[in-house]
Amino acid sequence: MQHIVKRFSSFLAVNDISIQVRPGEVHAICGENGAGKSTLMKVLAGEYPDYEGRISIHGTEVKLDSPTTARRCGIAIIHQELGLAGPISVAENIFAGNLPRKKGILLDRRKLYEDAKKYLGMVGLSYVRPETLVSALSQHEAQLVEIAKALSNDPKILIMDEPTSALSREEGKRLFSIIEDLKKRGLAILYISHFLSEVFEVSDYITTMRDGRHVATEAKTETTPEKVIYHMVGK
Ligand code: ADP
Ligand code: MG
Repeated sequence: MQHIVKRFSSFLAVNDISIQVRPGEVHAICGENGAGKSTLMKVLAGEYPDYEGRISIHGTEVKLDSPTTARRCGIAIIHQELGLAGPISVAENIFAGNLPRKKGILLDRRKLYEDAKKYLGMVGLSYVRPETLVSALSQHEAQLVEIAKALSNDPKILIMDEPTSALSREEGKRLFSIIEDLKKRGLAILYISHFLSEVFEVSDYITTMRDGRHVATEAKTETTPEKVIYHMVGK
């Protein structure tokens, strides 16, 4: 992403941000509430087609003008706000909008469940049956189903916006081991959290934003939580 700008009317929520993520790396975005982290990630997810700046994937410039385009470009986002709702099954949720249908009829429920199992396994939910209603899941499981859903599009870039906000410390640990697996599979991961201990546990690079602006991008090994806090608040 080069020189990305996103305005809401005249307000600059994202003001000239350039970052790069590589396969197999976790790149954290830090910043206080309102710094523009989620807005930047939504640009990458195709949700704000009126962004300015350039986005390239493997050297090819892409115009991310819709969530569908972003998905086709291999970008998946797990939002800060959970999207799960309603009396639908875990499997249907994972493939929502992406179901094998013919004339509106679900083609092959058994295949759907089989495929769902694969993605549930990837996020450590092998014990959850695909036909379970999402309303019956715990917060933690619902969060993991959101990740399974993102993975079902076989993304190259995975955005996780505050994924541990509803998780216990123990559940967070499990999420980090899933992230390690995804790194090994070669995904590039953008990770947003305001817990610096997590950021320093999970990420390879850390970009700090303040008031929509880029403050610093550093390898984890060359910075400290104290430095990042300084970048965030400028004191
Ligand atoms: P962060 O995720 O870092 O907490 P956000 O990207 O959510 O920050 O928000 C950055 C700034 O943009 C905030 O001041 C927020 O109020 C504003 N903002 C975010 N989304 C919208 C929107 N849809 N309309 C208007 N202002 C917005
Ligand atoms: Mg946010």
